[in-house]
Order: sequence, then C-alpha cells, then structure tokens
Amino acid sequence: MNDAKDMRQSHLFTKTQKFAPKDEVSKNAQLLIRTGFVHKEMAGVYAFLPLGWRVMNKIMDIIREEMNALGAQEIQMTALQRKELWETTGRWDDAKVDVWFKTALKNGTPLGLGFTHEEAITAMVKPFVTSHRSLPFSAYQFQTKFRNETRAKSGIMRSREFIMKDLYSFSRDVIEHKAFYEKAQAAYERIFQRVGIGAQTYKTFASGGTFSKYSHEYQTVCDAGEDIIYVDEKRRIAINEEVYTDDVIADLGLVKEELVQKKAAEVGNIFSLGTKFSDALGLIFRDDDGENKSVVMGSYGIGPARLMGVVVELLSDERGLIWPQSIAPYQAHLINIGHNDEAEEFYILLRTAGIDVLWDDRKNVRPGEKFADADLIGCPWRVVLSDKTHEYGGVELTHRRTGEQTIVSIHGAITMIHQ
Ligand code: ATP
Ligand code: MG
Repeated sequence: MNDAKDMRQSHLFTKTQKFAPKDEVSKNAQLLIRTGFVHKEMAGVYAFLPLGWRVMNKIMDIIREEMNALGAQEIQMTALQRKELWETTGRWDDAKVDVWFKTALKNGTPLGLGFTHEEAITAMVKPFVTSHRSLPFSAYQFQTKFRNETRAKSGIMRSREFIMKDLYSFSRDVIEHKAFYEKAQAAYERIFQRVGIGAQTYKTFASGGTFSKYSHEYQTVCDAGEDIIYVDEKRRIAINEEVYTDDVIADLGLVKEELVQKKAAEVGNIFSLGTKFSDALGLIFRDDDGENKSVVMGSYGIGPARLMGVVVELLSDERGLIWPQSIAPYQAHLINIGHNDEAEEFYILLRTAGIDVLWDDRKNVRPGEKFADADLIGCPWRVVLSDKTHEYGGVELTHRRTGEQTIVSIHGAITMIHQ
C-alpha cells in the first residue's frame, strides 16, 4: 500500500480516549471511536480517520488484488442516478425499494443516490457490447452507496453511507456465466481468508430471486450479526434462515440434525442475475449463429467496512483492538522510553525492512499510557526500547494477540515480524 512518509505518533492528529461514547450501542463503533479509528458524523454515518482509513485501504487492496486476478477491470461509476433509468426495471418506486435517498436538481428533475449499480452498469456498457466477441468481461468498483437503512445499530457494519466493492459480470450464456461465478466464489473465499475471518465464514445458500434457485452469501458467525444461519460444520456451508426449509435441506443433501443455528453477519453476497437487467435495458449481442441474445449477468458485493467491523467484533479483547497482520494499520508499534536517538535508528531500520511501523515518539507521555495506547490500537507487534532492553542491546517484542514476549536484537525482531 502507499505509505505515508511520516508515522510518528506525535504527529497523528487523533488520540485515543479513556471511555467509549455513551450514545453508541455497537461494540465495533464504541471501540473504533474510542481508539480514534472512526468518527461518528451522525447515527449510521461514519468517517474514517487516519488509522481506520489505513485498515480500510488494506482491506480494499486485498479485494482489489483478488478482483484483478479474476481479470475484472476497475471502474468508478456515479452516485447520482437518473429516475428514468431506474424506472425501466421498476426499482425507482419507493414501494419496491425502501432504502433510496432521493434528491432533485434545481429545476426539479428528480435524482437518486445509488444504493447499488446494476441498472447503471447495464446501460453504461451497452454501447460497447455488439457481437459475441465483445464478451465475456467483468468490471468492479469501490464506491459509496447510500441506503436509508431503518435500523442502523451495528456501527460500521450497517451504515447509511458506505463503500461497497461491487463487481458485475457479463457472459454470453449460462455456462460461461457459471464458470466465472465459480471463480468469483474462490476469489471471495481467498479474500475472507486473507482478511483473517476465513475460519468463521461460511458459504451460505440464500434466496436466489427469479433466475437462480439460490444466491450465495458469505456469512461470518458473530454475535453482532443480524442474520440467522444453519451451519454444517463438516462441509463448511450454511443455509440462511430465509430459505431454511425441509425441501432446501434435502436439496442441498444436508441433514437437519447436523445443522447448528448461529447468528452471523453477511460480509459478501454473490448473485446470478440471468437476463433480468439485460432484458430490461436491451443489453443484447449478435451471437456467432447470427441471433440476437441477451447478456447473462452476475453481481458480486462486499462491504469493506462491514468486514472491518466484523474483525473488530471477533478479535478485540478487553484491552482494545487486535488486528490480523494483513489489515493492521501498522504491523509494529515502536515505543521508546528514553533513548530517542536509538529509537529513531530502529524506526528507520524497521521501515527499511518493509515493515509498516507506528512510532510512539511522544516525549511527555508516561510509559503506562503508551502501553495502554498500543493495546488499544492493536498493532500485531509491540516493540519496546527501554533502559532494560537497552542493557541487552535489543528490544522487547510482544505479540498483541498471544501476549508472547521476548527480548531480541532489532534484527531478530524484524525477522520475527516478517514470519
Ligand atoms: P443486508 O442483507 O445485510 O442488508 P444486502 O443483502 O442488502 O445486505 P448487498 O446489496 O448484497 O447487501 O450488499 C453487498 C455487501 O455490501 C454486503 O454483503 C455487505 O458486506 C455490504 N453492505 C450492505 N449493506 C451495508 C451497509 N448498510 N453498511 C455497510 N455495508 C453494507
Ligand atoms: Mg443480502
């Protein structure tokens, strides 16, 4: 990721707070506000501060890598949406879609703030799709979605303005679509592994709409989740309560007695759309047999902030946040008690070794406060330079999650952090 040049804590404009905000009910938001990772603008609307935005960027970089590996092309669409476009599918109607934020131009022309982008991308790619040679392709974006969610009590896991990674695929037929859909599933599984929630995340069969029997959700077992799923631990799949019937259990070859009910949060959702949108918007191509056919589509969403919230819910402890190395704002938190010149030398050594390091260089802060801050912020490794470690010619290296502690040379620390 693109690193800021300066990672000295004395220059960080945010600070940790002793107490959680009283008006916030969700654990992830309480902790993230307390630690200065996010700012609550209003109920269900959060801004990301430097540390929180670093985590978001690391999550988005992982997702981006996996999307690019699928061959998907990154784009950036618009939040402002035309009423006429959404009327073609009937989704402008508030009776059908109850999360719209709508506004208007000065001359009265109604506009909507996009809550998803199927209609927009279908219309946008239309001029580029002519023959079967234009297909298949896929495109994705990281873009702010607006949803007037009725309940927004889950902190950054459900907000009214949030970044979504939305990917859309365009295929010539169902077989070609299925091949991409399979690859997208594998990419999703890699993303959840890499972010650190692979073990708790299940591919979940959910309602499919008109064109496929099921859609697939990725559900992470978590008390703060708003969904109920039924998990088959051995096969590592689950059924969403919304489609949980004897018929579906049998259809999936599962056994009711082996399924365990759990609370879970939907971190990702993949959907076969068939030709619903291409029919409505006339996205057709001339096939090699000379026939005009509708493009077969899929859509694939992930909420990076929901992922971040789930990680906080699952991994933090009474002392604060605990980040997996892959998405930590910094891999190491360097703390010095005196020995400023040596600390600066270590700071440079760590950075030269390619380690993201936050250096608590503050001179007027007590050691206890520095340690408490390091626990709150939750970088995977704490690197302490004090009189005691100086005597040994090294640093005290502590792993935030396991609490394991050793005194090693700075080079030994670098090796351990890289492992
Ligand atoms: P939910 O059922 O939780 O409301 P959804 O099915 O409406 O979500 P999608 O439209 O499929 O969500 O969105 C794709 C992904 O975007 C979700 O899997 C989730 O990770 C994320 N997401 C959805 N709504 C929100 C929100 N309000 N705040 C943050 N992330 C969200
Ligand atoms: Mg859903």
